[in-house]
Amino acid sequence: IFDPQDVAGDEKELRAPICCILGHVDAGKTKLLDCIRGTNVQGREAGGITQQIGATYLPAENIRDRTSLKAETAIKVPGLLVIDTPGHESFSKMRSRGLSMCDIAVVVVDITKGLEKQTVESLHLLRCHNVSFIVALNKVDRLYGWKECTNAPIVEALKKQSDDVKSEYKWRLTKVVTEFKENGFNTAPYYENNKKKKVVNIVPTSAESGEGVPDLLLLLVRWLPDIITDKLAYDDTIECTVLEVNEHKDLGTTVDVVLINGVLRQGDQVIVCTKQGAYKHHKEVRAAQGVKIVARGLQYAMAGTSLIVVKPGDDLRQAEAAAMQEIDMAISTTDEN
Ligand code: GDP
Repeated sequence: IFDPQDVAGDEKELRAPICCILGHVDAGKTKLLDCIRGTNVQGREAGGITQQIGATYLPAENIRDRTSLKAETAIKVPGLLVIDTPGHESFSKMRSRGLSMCDIAVVVVDITKGLEKQTVESLHLLRCHNVSFIVALNKVDRLYGWKECTNAPIVEALKKQSDDVKSEYKWRLTKVVTEFKENGFNTAPYYENNKKKKVVNIVPTSAESGEGVPDLLLLLVRWLPDIITDKLAYDDTIECTVLEVNEHKDLGTTVDVVLINGVLRQGDQVIVCTKQGAYKHHKEVRAAQGVKIVARGLQYAMAGTSLIVVKPGDDLRQAEAAAMQEIDMAISTTDEN
């Protein structure tokens, strides 16, 4: 899964950033995720994209192929892991853990509607958990008279539009910037944003025809790693969260986990927090990745809790005690919600 050649240069080794998609119902979260997975990719396997669990891994090379990025331009991260947010138990029941594992969020806003109730709720959650975000100002193709430029970078697509479309775009953009301001956030279209660390980037997109999607992907793999280099530093210490507990028709109960940092190896003994106490068992997987784990007893596993790895020589009791502490915390968080 991890190819060391994907890591550019001899700089500090970074892991893939983890990203989630939030926003009001119907803003286009699902469609945008589909677009991120599929644009310009003939077959998912060919593009190296894996989507075996509720998370999609996009290798850096896949993103390079889909953008105008020159071959010699380095991408410092091996890829991007996008969590399929909307349906996940850990997000609805235990949002705090779910969100805190994300390095960045994409907040989808419908350009024809501006900020809506759940957009504002998402902003509140992001602020509470101190998670940075990018705004995908979606459905630009709905602007009256929009000339479709499939999968084009947004600046290029905007240049091709008539004056009427340009001026409608401008006033809708200004309106959204004002609405963000009213909610305490400074935002600017990313192509005019000179203070990318302080001012939130807006990327106009169409999840229908793909305009702006290359820009969004580039921001995630090029700009973001420069902003949060330390947070993305690859570390051998395992950090892993259970995303979902599933019934699989052939495998029995499985847990889907997000490996935030470290490597899971075949033969590793793991402890999973369960509703009845703590659990074990894996092949090498390097962070950040989504992993499906199969083992007995997993039906009691709790979404949103940590997966703890016990290395040879580690104190099993200490690890179990840590798991028990998480179980208590998870139960109290669930109660709050
Ligand atoms: P979600 O509830 O935020 O996941 O929204 P969906 O992805 O389900 O999108 C809601 C509706 O808007 C669907 O009918 C989509 O086809 C449509 N939609 C989403 N994004 C776009 C877009 O960029 N352009 C257009 N024209 N329609 C879109």
